[in-house]
Amino acid sequence: MGEYDEIILGGGWAGLLYADMKLYEHNHKIAVIEKDSDYNKGGLLRSEIIDGLTFDTGGPHLLFSRDASIISKIVELLGDNVSKRERNNYVLYDNKFIPYPFENGIYKLDPELRVNFIKGILERMMFMSRNREWKPNNFMEWITGFFGDYMAREYLIPYNKKIWKRPLESMAADWVFTPGRLPFPDLENMIKSAAGIPNVGYKEQSYFYYPKKGGIQSLYDSLYEKVTKRGLNLLFGKDVRNIEVDGRGRYIINNEITANSVISTIPLPELLLSIEDSEESHQLANKFDYNGVIIVGVAISSGTPNQTSIYIPDPKVIFHRYTWMSSLLPSIDPSKSNLIAEVTVPKGEIVDVNKVTSTVVRDLANIGVISDEKEVIFTKAWFNKYGYPVYTLNHNEVRERAMKILTAYGIKSIGRWGSWHYWNTDMVYKAILNMNTAGVK
Ligand SMILES: Cc1cc2nc3c(=O)[nH]c(=O)nc-3n(C[C@H](O)[C@H](O)[C@H](O)COP(=O)(O)OP(=O)(O)OC[C@H]3O[C@@H](n4cnc5c(N)ncnc54)[C@H](O)[C@@H]3O)c2cc1C
Repeated sequence: MGEYDEIILGGGWAGLLYADMKLYEHNHKIAVIEKDSDYNKGGLLRSEIIDGLTFDTGGPHLLFSRDASIISKIVELLGDNVSKRERNNYVLYDNKFIPYPFENGIYKLDPELRVNFIKGILERMMFMSRNREWKPNNFMEWITGFFGDYMAREYLIPYNKKIWKRPLESMAADWVFTPGRLPFPDLENMIKSAAGIPNVGYKEQSYFYYPKKGGIQSLYDSLYEKVTKRGLNLLFGKDVRNIEVDGRGRYIINNEITANSVISTIPLPELLLSIEDSEESHQLANKFDYNGVIIVGVAISSGTPNQTSIYIPDPKVIFHRYTWMSSLLPSIDPSKSNLIAEVTVPKGEIVDVNKVTSTVVRDLANIGVISDEKEVIFTKAWFNKYGYPVYTLNHNEVRERAMKILTAYGIKSIGRWGSWHYWNTDMVYKAILNMNTAGVK
């Protein structure tokens, strides 16, 4: 039986970041317990290289942040293996590639369409200036309330229905709505768009960092190398299923590993069920809603366009976004390219990966990304059970109840799934850094 001062559950980005910070404490014996094998390590930050083409199997991971200090810490981990790239994202609408974010890319549309979109947003801006206390009650109200009916109907509702796969009225607005902060594009950009003049949207997202080689896995691998060099034990292939507390207040995990303290990055509902196998904890665990995501990789026998990610609101197309991996990591053979398309799957739904893959290929041909299916060299798909946490209307209450139980057991839960927040690598990093400076022991 292994004995440790501290055990970290889950060896993805959050687990290793936390370990990295704790390893500065001397004489502190820590281990990470990870369900996947050493070979499949990385959590969502996994990549596979097939015939010289790199695929991020947990979705495309572009590194950017509003917080310059956090992004520089992330980039620092990559050492020389990083490049700064311009983002060339588009929304495919009306058979045109409209620069992303859509509200800034409207200048590409025909003048009559520009008027429809901009009129809708301006009407809402005027409404807001008269009704400063207005607050959306749900995600749907946020969309229509801020962007107007036309933008909502043509782009935001079909796109969000595709990614979330549930009524948008059944989702909360507080994760996108910050009181006092309106998501409107600035007026000058709007006027430029209306006049057909190009402009750039959110500045912090117009550039991103990405590893020069190895895909996003190399970010994880750099951190892995750093923590293992400093002596971290990673126990792979161990699925946390049971946590008990003995008479001396020590934690016993899966009846084999003991520790004085436990910090978790595994999905909150799984953690709850490991601690308490009661009717009540099953009910609470069930209240956490999420989508899985299938990442379909497609290798193609033609070159790469000057594009990064393309967002697809069209409900007839199965994927909500595709990303040219070969624009992130240029292919050694420029006559070949590869992309990944993302298809979400609601919690508990049966996944037919082969059917999804053939539909993705068919739809790529339908929207003209490939001229016909013969252009496809090979495909491979990866299913990630946990892709997107869903902000249900009662998500704050559900999270709080779960955290209360965990506090009673003295367990802290962090990371995307441990906090149950739609967080990128930067927000996960920031939250861990903040808890550490707040003196978490
Ligand atoms: C489609 C998609 C696109 C994204 N794009 C970006 C992007 O462009 N930029 C960006 O910065 N971020 C992006 N992210 C977010 C980023 O992937 C996450 O913020 C980050 O990887 C979260 O790390 P984590 O350690 O919290 O979770 P995870 O990576 O999920 O790690 C959790 C770990 O716990 C393990 N585990 C789970 N259950 C158990 C158990 N019972 N016992 C033991 N181990 C267990 C898992 O195997 C895993 O290794 C994206 C995410 C997705 C899904």
